[in-house]
Amino acid sequence: MDAIEAEWRVKALVIGGIVLLLCGVTIALSLLFGRELRRREAMQAELERLSLTDALTRLPNRRAFEDAGARAWEEARRGGRPLSLLIVDADHFKRFNDRYGHQVGDEVLQGLARCLSASVHRPRDLVSRIGGEEFAILLPDTDQAGALRIAEKVHAEVSTLAIGSAGIGAGAVTVSIGLASAVPTAAAITALMDLYRLADGALYEAKAGGRNQTRCTKLQDIPAASQKWGLQVVGAS
Ligand code: GH3
Ligand code: MG
Ligand code: MG
Repeated sequence: MDAIEAEWRVKALVIGGIVLLLCGVTIALSLLFGRELRRREAMQAELERLSLTDALTRLPNRRAFEDAGARAWEEARRGGRPLSLLIVDADHFKRFNDRYGHQVGDEVLQGLARCLSASVHRPRDLVSRIGGEEFAILLPDTDQAGALRIAEKVHAEVSTLAIGSAGIGAGAVTVSIGLASAVPTAAAITALMDLYRLADGALYEAKAGGRNQTRCTKLQDIPAASQKWGLQVVGAS
């Protein structure tokens, strides 16, 4: 009996050891696999964040603006709430590049990004860089009067912007702003872009009017197509 049991015990110990080892290897591989999965998820989240961020100013980029804008438009439509859009464009920006170089131009853009971010306070307000020296400020739940106050704050903030290293003093950098406000009353995929076109038209007027100012959409600026989609102008003059 002892002899048989002793032989069996050795075999049982060997098999038990192998099973334990396999269990250990399986657990280690599972842990490694889990860690890889988490790393991959974090990397994907980071890539997603980068694809929505402007590398120079760290502001949301045009894609982020379009995504958030479409959501804001839909929320405003459902709630019957006003939505405002400011397009902010640096005045004579090409001159800064020509005079001080591209790198200083980049610093001015970074400074402008800070000024714009400092001009809004609500969590749903979105400041983004949508082009070279062009920014958009999306203001949910804000009518024209409220948006005008933000525009004034932008002008005030920008008037304090200085780039000491390049000898650019406060007041040298100015921006022009085109403003459009609307209460979207009907669903339309392209409607946010319609608001964008209105703000862009107002921006063009601000440039033509001498720059360093804000212009708002006027009732006669609304294209017929927008009226068909149910775009109401808020506080139009
Ligand atoms: P306006 O007042 O009519 O807007 O004149 P502007 O000179 O600001 O406008 P324009 O469109 O003629 O020139 C824009 C300039 O912005 C030209 C382009 O080289 C510069 N720019 C665009 N993106 C960048 C950037 O990322 N960095 C720098 N430094 N410059 C940029
Ligand atoms: Mg410009
Ligand atoms: Mg421009």
